[in-house]
Amino acid sequence: MTPSLPISIVRKPQDVLETLFGYGEFRSQQAAIIEAVMAGRDALVIMPTGGGKSLCYQVPSLCMDGLGIVVSPLIALMADQVSSLNQLGVRAAYLNSTQEFSVQMDVINAVRNGELDLLYVAPERLLKEQTLEVLRQIKVALIAVDEAHCVSSWGHDFRRDYLELHLLKQHFPNVPRIALTATADERTRDDIAHNLQLQSPDIFIDGFDRSNIHYRVALKDSPKKQLLEFLQQRKDEAGIVYCLSRRAVDATATLLADNGYDALPYHAGLDAAVRARHQERFLREDGVIVVATIAFGMGIDKPDVRFVAHMDLPKSIEAYYQETGRAGRDGAPAQAWMVYGLQDVVRMSQMLSESQADEAHKRIENEKLNALLGWCEVTACRRAALLNYFGDTLQTPCSGCDVCDTPPKTWDALESAQKFMSCVVRTGQRFGAGHVIDVLRGADKERVQQLQHDTLPTFGIGGDLSEAQWRSVVRQLIAQGYLYADAARHGGLRLSEHARPLLRGDVPLQLRVDATSKGSSSSKSRSNRARSEPAIELSELDTMVFEELRATRKRLADEQSVPPYVIFHDATLREMAQLRPATANEMLGLNGVGQTKLDRYGAAFLLTLGGGDAAEMAGPDYESQPGLEEQYGSWSDEEPTEFG
Ligand code: ADP
Ligand code: ZN
Repeated sequence: MTPSLPISIVRKPQDVLETLFGYGEFRSQQAAIIEAVMAGRDALVIMPTGGGKSLCYQVPSLCMDGLGIVVSPLIALMADQVSSLNQLGVRAAYLNSTQEFSVQMDVINAVRNGELDLLYVAPERLLKEQTLEVLRQIKVALIAVDEAHCVSSWGHDFRRDYLELHLLKQHFPNVPRIALTATADERTRDDIAHNLQLQSPDIFIDGFDRSNIHYRVALKDSPKKQLLEFLQQRKDEAGIVYCLSRRAVDATATLLADNGYDALPYHAGLDAAVRARHQERFLREDGVIVVATIAFGMGIDKPDVRFVAHMDLPKSIEAYYQETGRAGRDGAPAQAWMVYGLQDVVRMSQMLSESQADEAHKRIENEKLNALLGWCEVTACRRAALLNYFGDTLQTPCSGCDVCDTPPKTWDALESAQKFMSCVVRTGQRFGAGHVIDVLRGADKERVQQLQHDTLPTFGIGGDLSEAQWRSVVRQLIAQGYLYADAARHGGLRLSEHARPLLRGDVPLQLRVDATSKGSSSSKSRSNRARSEPAIELSELDTMVFEELRATRKRLADEQSVPPYVIFHDATLREMAQLRPATANEMLGLNGVGQTKLDRYGAAFLLTLGGGDAAEMAGPDYESQPGLEEQYGSWSDEEPTEFG
C-alpha cells in the first residue's frame, strides 16, 4: 500500500480535523484531551453520547507515530466506525472473532507492516497472546478503551472481558491509555480508573447536557392518537418508538404502518432473521421508524435518529437518559417524547414486585422508578432537573423542554391531598385509585355500597374535582413520594412515611394543572426546537434539493453496502441543500466535508445540485473523466482500506 493518503503527512490535530474530518474546530474539551494523550498521559473522558468521543482518540492516532488501538465491546459498532474511517481515507481495520481466519491474518499482517493507523479490537481478541506478540513488535501510539463503564460491575453493562484490560498496563507500560464513557456516576468513574489501572489520569468531565435534544413528557390520555399527532410533522424522519410489551410493539408498528409510516417492529419474540433485517433497514435506509421493546438500541450508533418516543415509562432516569440519548448523535435537533399515566406507575410497581430480584435490589429499583415519576411531574425546567439528577447543573437557561415552552400552572392542592389520603386510610389502604376516587366523589356504585364505604365520613367529600383531576392528584402524590402503589396488594395505595406532615398540614403542596390533550397538541408551535445548532429550516425548494441529495447519497451508499450516514450526515446534506455549493472549494467549506470525501463524492453531489462545472464536465460516468482531476485536485486513486 502506498502512503499516498494525506494523513501520513498531516500531523497537527487542527489540520487533521480540518482536512480529514472537514470540521472547523474542536468541541468543548476535545483539544485538551488530545493534547493530554499526545503528551503521553492517561486520560479518563466522560462525555455524553454524541459529544464527540471518537475524535479524542482518532485524531491523536493519526497525528502520532504508530498504531492507535481501540478496544470496543460492540462488534457491530466496530464495523461501522471502521467503515466511516475508511470513507475518510483513514487506514483503519478491525479484528474480532466473527471474522474468517484469512481476514484476521490479513489484518494482522497489515499491523505488522505498519500499514494501519487505527485498529479496532474486541477485548478478548486483544489479550490473546498471539495478538500481543504482534503488537509488542510494533510501535503503539495509544490505547483507547471505549465504553469504559463496561469495566465496572456497578454499571448495567458489565463485561468480564473488560476486567482483564488492566493487563494492558503491564504489556504496554509506556503507552498512553484513554478510557471513554458516557456513563458517569462517581462510583463508575472510580471503578474505571482503578480497574484499568490508569496512572493518575487527567479527568475530563463534559457534563450530561444533550443540548440538541428537546424533552417533552405528556399525560397519557389517548396514546395512539397522541403518537400520531407527534409524528405528524415527522414523515421521513428516522426514529425509535419504545413500548413495554411485545404486544404493544406489534400493535403500534401496525398503527404507524397503516398511517403511512415506514415502521418496523423489533422485539425478542421475533425471529432473529427478521430482527436483523429490521435493524439493517433502520441503519441503511432513510426515514425508517423502529417500534421496539428495550431489546433494541444497544449498539445502535446511527447518528441521525431524529426522535425517541416512549409509549410507556422506562425503568429509571438512567434508562430514560440512555434510551433518549440515541437521538441526535449528529448534533442536529432531535426530540425525546414520552407519554405516561397512572396506569404505568401501577404496572411498573407490579412488574417490580413480581421480579426475581432480592428485596434490597427491589428497593433500589423502586426508588429509581419514583425518581423518574418525580421527574415526569416537575414544575420547573425538565432539562435542569435531569442534569441535577446526575449531579450536573445547567449553565444557560433551557428553551428545549415542555416546561420551559409552556410553564405549567400550579394550584394549592393541600386540602385535596388531605381528603384523598384520609380516604385511603379510611378504606384500609388496600384499594386502587379508582375505588378511592369513587368513594370521594360519592359514586352510586354497587361495590362502594357492598363495602359500606358510603357510610365513611370521607364519602362524597370530593365532588369538587372531576375524576381526571383526582387522578392527576394521585399521580403527583405518588411522584412526590407521599403515596405508593403497594405491589404486594395488587397495587393498592398506601401512605408513605412522608405523608404525615402533609396530613397535618405542616407542609405546603403545589401541584401542576394537567395540560388537557387539546392543550398539549398546541405544543407544535415552538416546542420542537432545540437549543443548540438549530436545524436549518429548509424552504420548500431546498427540501426538494435535500431529497435529491439524499437519493444520491443512498445510491452511493448502496454501491458500497454502507449506511448512508457513512457518506455524509443529514446535517451536511441540509447545509448543502441550502448553500448549493457550485465548486469544489465551496463544497469543502461545508461542515463535514473534508478532502477525501470531496475527492470521492464531491463530483456526484455537485452533479446532483446541477450547478457549476461538474454538470458540464462530468457525465454520469464522471469518475472515468480525467479532466475532473484538475478541477478537484488529487483524486484518491486508492480504494478504502477494507479488511472485513
Ligand atoms: P460519541 O462517541 O461521543 O457518542 P461521536 O464521536 O460519534 O460521539 O460524535 C458524534 C458526532 O459529532 C459525530 O457525527 C461526529 O462526527 C461529530 N463531531 C465530533 N466532533 C466534532 C467537531 N469538533 N465538530 C463537528 N462535529 C463533530
Ligand atoms: Zn427547560
